Amino acid sequence: MVQELICIVCPKGCHIKVDGENISGYTCLRGLSYAKQESVNPLRTITSTVLIEGEDNLVCPVKTSHEIPKKEIFNVMKVINKIKAKRPIKMNEVLIKNVLNLGVDIISTKEIL
Ligand code: SF4
Repeated sequence: MVQELICIVCPKGCHIKVDGENISGYTCLRGLSYAKQESVNPLRTITSTVLIEGEDNLVCPVKTSHEIPKKEIFNVMKVINKIKAKRPIKMNEVLIKNVLNLGVDIISTKEIL
């Protein structure tokens, strides 16, 4: 089965076709690498927010420290949505260590004093 992808590595957005070992449509090696990874185990970085303890209208923006398998996004979001962070929160502070044993942390992307 031919898989059609749009490369998201850069804004050019090349249309790539993956047919088993045959990959076409990419215009650079980063696109080839993306297509290989995407056809086997698609990865994504998640960005979201977490609630802050004792605050009704304030959330802390977070992201995964590295990419996670696309199929785990929903499960990771369930964990992110359950926690409440405690102030003060430093930039890049680990709020969830090794989420779901994926070897990836959930870290803050903003300092909240
Ligand atoms: S294949 Fe290369 S040039 Fe094309 S979108 Fe991907 S990274 Fe950009």
